Amino acid sequence: MNASPRLELDLSVVQTSYVTFRDAFPHVEPAYAIKANPHPDVLALLAGLGASADLASVGELDACLLAGVEPRRMTWGNPVKKASDVRAAVAAGVSRFTTDSAADVDLLAREAPGAAVTVRLAVDDDGSATPFAGKFGVPPEEAAALLCRARDVGLRPHGLGFHPGSQQTDPSSWCRGIASARRAVALSGVAVEELNLGGGFPTRHGAGRVPTLWEIAAAIDAELGDWRPHLVAEPGRALVADAGVLVAEVVLVTERAGRRWVYLDVGRYQGLAETEGEMIVYRLRCPGHPDAAPRGPVVLAGPTCDGDDVLYRRADVQLPLDLAPGDVVEFLGAGAYTSSYASVGFNGLPPLPTVITTLPTPERTPD
Ligand SMILES: *Cc1c(COP(=O)(O)O)cnc(C)c1O
Repeated sequence: MNASPRLELDLSVVQTSYVTFRDAFPHVEPAYAIKANPHPDVLALLAGLGASADLASVGELDACLLAGVEPRRMTWGNPVKKASDVRAAVAAGVSRFTTDSAADVDLLAREAPGAAVTVRLAVDDDGSATPFAGKFGVPPEEAAALLCRARDVGLRPHGLGFHPGSQQTDPSSWCRGIASARRAVALSGVAVEELNLGGGFPTRHGAGRVPTLWEIAAAIDAELGDWRPHLVAEPGRALVADAGVLVAEVVLVTERAGRRWVYLDVGRYQGLAETEGEMIVYRLRCPGHPDAAPRGPVVLAGPTCDGDDVLYRRADVQLPLDLAPGDVVEFLGAGAYTSSYASVGFNGLPPLPTVITTLPTPERTPD
């Protein structure tokens, strides 16, 4: 299928990324964060490899059940939930939930008595490309109070957790989360069994080195010292980003106010949501244009009539000077947070289709 735009996804790269994650974190239960790429083949592959799943909605629950994830391997990671969400989870056999408010603890006590509860701590998410800015998590004092409340209302105060923010490039961010968890344990007197390290493990995008999984693992290990709770992590991006190439086409090239604008048939609403604020700058490739071809700076824009549908204005994006309508532009490392973010039909443009394929070797081994 040659529809444009499309996401070409290589399942063997997902498998390699999963094996690599297991190698770097041999003592951690990996719970794939479904929202990064919920394609049924990805879920089935990871389920088959024994991965757990971190889910956030009834839709993701159903997708996991269809893919064959065992309910005991599921954790409901979203601290914002309806009573009907909890009922559906309990009916399916899910018994691990993340929480970060008294109201949600009480909801769980009503709808999921006896369930294992993990309290989410707020961590300083500086260093993340997409910080949460206070949307989730509580300080250690409040986490301690929530653990005690959970115990008192008949839940299991099972764990503490945090999420250092997606595309987190500072390993010490996980250390700060662990330090907060240690403090919450000390304050509450509850010896939690589980520590959830969240997601955030970065993948390579534009310029700039990102820490390896082994560097992050070493930082986490050093911070844990002799504290050995059951460890869970919720990688999303790290398992699927490298497996995807988003293939698009040039629609228009023109000059505006002295800058060269390139309009593609893909934009913010067909899967490139993470270009918002230019937080993720993808590596681009133009097949058919030799690497040595002369290049110049562009403003890169999407095809819709929305003023926000501009991918990069400030980032230094250089494309071949002879780029023309019909030419292909590829976004590398685009397997995460693209197809799942595409709108259902803004301006009549369909959601981004996924094509399962085998990518040629150079695309699979970003250096
Ligand atoms: C989105 C999310 C993740 C995955 O984050 P990545 O940066 O893709 O690894 C993990 N945990 C929670 C709670 C999330 O919301």
